Amino acid sequence: MLSPSQADQLYRTFATCSVKAPQYAEWCLKCENCTITRYTSGKTLFQGSDAEVYAAAFMEPDTSIHAHAGSDEVGTGDYFGPVCVCAVFADDAGIALIHKLAVHDSKQIKDEDIRKAAPVLMEQLPHSLLIVPCAKYNQVHERSNLNAIKALLHNQAYVNLRKKIALPKLIVIDQFTPEKSYYRYISSEKEIVRGIHFETKAEDKYPAVGAASVIARYAFLKYMEEMDTRYGMHFPFGASGTVDQAGIAFAEKYGKDRLGEVAKLHFKNTEKIMERL
Ligand code: MN
Repeated sequence: MLSPSQADQLYRTFATCSVKAPQYAEWCLKCENCTITRYTSGKTLFQGSDAEVYAAAFMEPDTSIHAHAGSDEVGTGDYFGPVCVCAVFADDAGIALIHKLAVHDSKQIKDEDIRKAAPVLMEQLPHSLLIVPCAKYNQVHERSNLNAIKALLHNQAYVNLRKKIALPKLIVIDQFTPEKSYYRYISSEKEIVRGIHFETKAEDKYPAVGAASVIARYAFLKYMEEMDTRYGMHFPFGASGTVDQAGIAFAEKYGKDRLGEVAKLHFKNTEKIMERL
């Protein structure tokens, strides 16, 4: 995966080979024995007999990024389980470690690799991890929307991280809401961390965001395992029909009033589960 700055560099290098971009593409370069297409989704496709040669030259880690902090959240799209938010600080050594572990967006890494990488990251990198159980989440959600909750948690993660280490100039949040809304959501907080850079798909470009994503995912996986053990049943990820089935099973075993212990009640799944009880 090429970061936006790497893609820009790639485009500038071969700008003279630029041809008309196909649908859903930002640009297309017809080089010798290789066609490179950059899609608006952020994907870059190298095609042709020399595809690997061209790709290898531009897949090197982005060395323009130095000490920075980054944060990401996990669990907001899952009906069951907590919301986990993590903020990570990475200096050059930390960045090198993250590259060595080949860690970026947790959505693209297998769970078993997350289980291997996360403990190493947690031991080596200053970080702050927040885990919000469903009971607490549902309570807060009655008063605020999901983006407001995310904003409060990211801010809190940085407030906690700041107590461990002086925050660097560059602090990045994988963007989920416009900057203005972010600061509006946290405006009544006692401590507010400012000067944050917001960027979508930040986990690919900023190693600390990628590491935060992996640590948060790890915490989520572990919490879900503990829930399985505690309630003697399996809680699936996501918000699909399988999730409804598990919700029904839970409600039949423990009573529908206790669904809020394990699930985010504002999801449509709650209605579907209640209808079928
Ligand atoms: Mn994210």
